[in-house]
Amino acid sequence: MEKLDVAIVGAGVVGLAVAAEIARRHEELETIVLERHGKFGQDTSSRNSEVLHAGIYYPAGSLKARLCVAGNAMMHDFCARHDVPHQRLGKLIVARDETELAVIERAYEQGTANGVPGLTLLDKAAAARLEPHITAAGALYSESTGIVDSHKLMARLERLATAGGAMLAYKHAVTGVKPVADGYEVTFVGPDGREDAIGCRWLINCAGLYADRIAALCGIDTAADGYEINHVKGEYFSVAMGKSRLVTHLIYPPPLPGLKGLGTHVTKSLDGRARLGPNVAATAGPEDYDVDAGHLEEFYRAAATYLPFIERDDLAPDMAGVRPKLKTKGAEVADFIIRHETERGLPGLISLVGMESPGLTSCLAIAAYVADMVDMGL
Ligand SMILES: Cc1cc2nc3c(=O)[nH]c(=O)nc-3n(C[C@H](O)[C@H](O)[C@H](O)COP(=O)(O)OP(=O)(O)OC[C@H]3O[C@@H](n4cnc5c(N)ncnc54)[C@H](O)[C@@H]3O)c2cc1C
Repeated sequence: MEKLDVAIVGAGVVGLAVAAEIARRHEELETIVLERHGKFGQDTSSRNSEVLHAGIYYPAGSLKARLCVAGNAMMHDFCARHDVPHQRLGKLIVARDETELAVIERAYEQGTANGVPGLTLLDKAAAARLEPHITAAGALYSESTGIVDSHKLMARLERLATAGGAMLAYKHAVTGVKPVADGYEVTFVGPDGREDAIGCRWLINCAGLYADRIAALCGIDTAADGYEINHVKGEYFSVAMGKSRLVTHLIYPPPLPGLKGLGTHVTKSLDGRARLGPNVAATAGPEDYDVDAGHLEEFYRAAATYLPFIERDDLAPDMAGVRPKLKTKGAEVADFIIRHETERGLPGLISLVGMESPGLTSCLAIAAYVADMVDMGL
């Protein structure tokens, strides 16, 4: 059996970023990425809003807050240096009337506590200067929020990983993990449909929607240890191009208590198209990407509260993604799990579970965090 230094499960944006960072730091380490699909980023990493979040909403000190704020800056810099299409578009969180001004002020305080740069509270006139067509009694403006071409980002990370010596093994679906002396034996089904195995000293679980299954294969009690994933769909509706042009920033409703996700918001793609979403919808399974056209009315009503120009005919079902949400109790907000499992007696195993938003924004900071764990264990 071939024995390598590092095996990474999953070639989404997180697995690719981790592979690129380990390859950059350690050309001497033999690294392989095992990916069940025929190419990278076929799951959540290509089914999201492509927003480079600023890090406003997350609890201060959480991994989500720290890695998002750091990741946003790293990403703007990386994209500029590596010719990855991106734009520092800016975002407005709007108060639709005076009663909501206190909510955006609290978001400003939370963002400031998280160290988010470039936050400004705007009064009604200043908000109207940035976005003359929306309903806003005031807004929180976030200058560092942007958008990125996630496909080109992943293509660049893949090239950096392979240039640093990492191997990308597509059509390799991991089916088993056995702890052995000084590492792990990883079983997979290869492109020819046959089962085979490799040995590795480090095993890094970046399996996204299936990270809990990989953790279970490693012997972790996912229910008892809080690693179980709930698959939660997010659907999008596209906005007709003529109306898309009426907004130039990303626009979000205020984070009211009890709001599902970030609320129905407006994202923009690099070609100027606007989309509404994602909502929070039930899914028939981790890879159910159907968009229910019956949800149009719900999207229309939510958007009309701050986009007075929107009409039902402007909206059309677009696409959906699935969030790997950690199962939590009540309203508890789950943080990313990124853990070197030494305390469980599994040295060399690094788990990344519940890598929902802002995982795209944070991927470079996550990669540095994981590579530090490997450096400490070498
Ligand atoms: C609707 C939606 C909107 C979002 N919007 C944003 C946003 O605007 N900004 C932001 O920062 N984040 C956003 N996110 C979150 C972001 O998309 C994710 O955090 C990120 O893509 C996760 O990347 P990943 O590599 O962990 O997972 P994935 O992209 O899911 O990759 C995991 C990979 O592991 C592979 N895999 C799984 N099991 C196995 C196995 N047994 N063997 C081999 N390979 C396996 C899969 O095939 C897959 O390719 C959004 C997410 C959703 C769902």
